[in-house]
Amino acid sequence: MLDRLPVVIEPLGFAERGKRLVGALKVSEFIRLSGELLDNSGVVEIDFSFDKEGRLAIVSGEIKANLNLQCQSCLGQFVLSINRQFKLGLVSSMEQADRLASDCEPLILNNKKISLNELVEDELLLALPDFPRHEYECSEMSKGKELEVNNDEQQQMNSNNPFSVLAELKNTGD
Ligand SMILES: [Zn+2]
Repeated sequence: MLDRLPVVIEPLGFAERGKRLVGALKVSEFIRLSGELLDNSGVVEIDFSFDKEGRLAIVSGEIKANLNLQCQSCLGQFVLSINRQFKLGLVSSMEQADRLASDCEPLILNNKKISLNELVEDELLLALPDFPRHEYECSEMSKGKELEVNNDEQQQMNSNNPFSVLAELKNTGD
């Protein structure tokens, strides 16, 4: 199943034929994404359907992955489970993109053929939070450690963040 997915896809042709792509890709194949991860083991599962809505070609489906990120609060590792549903309208210009229905994001095609890897990676990068962090209050543990350091060190730590970021997130009700 891992090696059955095409490297290059032809979205408009696929939409005409109502094609479906189901399979998995290795996380390590995504170069840009790997740069955001602590560890790029594991796979990304995809289930894509290509279809037409009137004259508009669309690709919709879901992407599932467990990604190993670094928590921005405690700098420890945590696993982010992504289950992203998406729907893209295939367009050839910004003008067409502006006319899409609101449930549909534009995918501007400059070429007939595109890289499946890039399409999946773009969606994964969109699914990453700006400030990845544990869902529980992991920072309480590192706060205890911070109290033990002397004042000079503490000022340095404050200037390059973790807790100010967390405070901001709380304020915006994220
Ligand atoms: Zn944490």
